[in-house]
Amino acid sequence: MELKINLDKNDDESQSEHIKVLIIGSGPAGLSAALYAARANLEPVVLTGMTMGGQASLTHLIENYPGFPEGLGGAELGELFKVQAERFGAKVVFDTVTEVDFSTKPYKIKTYGAQYTADVVIITTGANPRHLDIPGEEEYTGRGVSYCGTCDGFFFKEKDIVVVGGGDSALEEGLFLTRFANKVTVIHRRDELRASSILQTRAKENPKVDFVWDTVVSSIEGEDMVKHVQLENRKTNKKSSFETDGVFIFIGHIPNTEIFIDQIEMDENGYIIVNAGMETDKPGIFAAGEVADPHFRQVITSAGMGAAAAIQATRYLESLE
Ligand code: NAP
Repeated sequence: MELKINLDKNDDESQSEHIKVLIIGSGPAGLSAALYAARANLEPVVLTGMTMGGQASLTHLIENYPGFPEGLGGAELGELFKVQAERFGAKVVFDTVTEVDFSTKPYKIKTYGAQYTADVVIITTGANPRHLDIPGEEEYTGRGVSYCGTCDGFFFKEKDIVVVGGGDSALEEGLFLTRFANKVTVIHRRDELRASSILQTRAKENPKVDFVWDTVVSSIEGEDMVKHVQLENRKTNKKSSFETDGVFIFIGHIPNTEIFIDQIEMDENGYIIVNAGMETDKPGIFAAGEVADPHFRQVITSAGMGAAAAIQATRYLESLE
């Protein structure tokens, strides 16, 4: 959803609410930071962004978060994180940050609905799915093209679908999609998967899963809905058309850091650079979770980074006293 407002009308600083610890984002990192900051009596405010619970909340089943031996749904886990943080005094606000000014303290943050100043900002805005950027992809998004098996799998009952990618997400989501689809064909650009061996074994043993190796999707075509994809073998250069009802794309993520450009230090891929204390290059500004982590991207590592950021933020505020 694109929502535009006139920010100039919102510029009167006397209208700002001052917050000690402002957390931007409500995924595992944000809500864990909120829990730790709340328990340190810092009365944190969490600005949720568009997806309460972050990308993890879109995951059907999380089986590798310790403490839940049977696994649990991503949305359910997100809700538990939220309730736990709120129990200790965190305030969760459904709003999205549109602009920040980290040039002077206190730091300034504008949202669609309000403006804040903050002593500490913890950025946990996560990352969004990467697109293939091929003809037909945008046109057929929502009409056969999807980036979320949990959200859209239900619409593909008894259908044939393709999954693009060779990492954990592609196989995990592909396996989930076998609950609905007749056939799931994983199209991978190499002849070796990047995914963990447990997922590789499960996928290779699943009779509904097929693989097409060394192949990229060059375009997505159809009428009202997706009908086929054009494929290109990277070794032989052979082109072919492949009939399908759906295209699920899981080829990695792009960090949500656009609003922080020129405000804090990032790497060449847009990930925020942090030290072991989750500190950015600006004092009092921390980052945690996938927005600062191109390596692990697990619920547990994001939650751990969020907790570390809040602990370090507490120390930082104490050092100012
Ligand atoms: P990923 O590990 O970066 O894998 C992306 C896959 O997409 C790779 O196989 C890559 O191919 C392929 N790819 C990238 N760009 C492409 C393009 N333009 N066209 C075609 N293919 C393309 O991303 P991910 O699977 O989203 O996983 C991200 C992180 O989250 C990983 O650390 C993963 O372990 C973690 N994760 C874990 C779980 C779990 O533990 N259950 C579940 C989901 C994700 P190449 O292999 O050739 O590079």
